[in-house]
Amino acid sequence: MNIIEVKNVFRGFNTGSQRVEVLKDNNFTITQGTFNLLMGPSGSGKTTLLNILGTLDIPDKGKVFIESEEITSLSERKKDRLRKSKIGYIFQSVALISNMTAYENIDFFLRISGYNYKERRKRIEECLDFVGLRKRMKHKPIEMSGGEQQRVAIARAFSHKPAIILADEPTAELDTVTGLKVVQLFKDMVKKEGVTIVMCTHDRSIVELADNILEMEDGVILGGR
Ligand code: ADP
Ligand code: MG
Repeated sequence: MNIIEVKNVFRGFNTGSQRVEVLKDNNFTITQGTFNLLMGPSGSGKTTLLNILGTLDIPDKGKVFIESEEITSLSERKKDRLRKSKIGYIFQSVALISNMTAYENIDFFLRISGYNYKERRKRIEECLDFVGLRKRMKHKPIEMSGGEQQRVAIARAFSHKPAIILADEPTAELDTVTGLKVVQLFKDMVKKEGVTIVMCTHDRSIVELADNILEMEDGVILGGR
């Protein structure tokens, strides 16, 4: 089943007097329960595309479907609901709240998503366990390494059981070994929980680990691998 469908998507930006067309007539689909790498050089439009898939930005032209629902024309309220129920985000620079512990970071997020206390507690323990950081529950970001912080961010992105996880260069600031662990976690999520993951990267060394490669070239995603 296609969980994401992109049809004739264009997006450009005006910078000063110039217009830059970043995405040009993109057409592709993403199969449910797969680990996808969105690859391309810096500045090729990966983040722009990811933001559109995550309803954080809208294309100038074209349509995007998530589970067959057209998302670009949804009202802000419906988009907000979609994000809270179906989408998890992971960014390059870990966006944890610095004065909250690992537990509190996820708790805060789940509260916004409408989980009650008991559900939150169970789910937070489950998710921290999944990323191997249950013992670090009471630690604040500053007390953890970059890799551990990113794993907490992953646990958080994953805690509300989204169907889709969008990760924008999540390993860029990690060393190779830690980066590989993060990728392995993604693969486990796909296998054990059936999540669909789209991860931007320009790290060619992990190409073999993906189910599908979306290659961005001159503003267009070329066909799969
Ligand atoms: P990537 O993530 O592949 O590095 P981006 O999607 O961030 O690429 O950016 C693609 C191009 O679009 C770049 O040239 C960038 O400067 C431009 N761009 C992205 N967002 C904006 C914006 N809001 N305003 C103007 N230009 C933008
Ligand atoms: Mg980017």
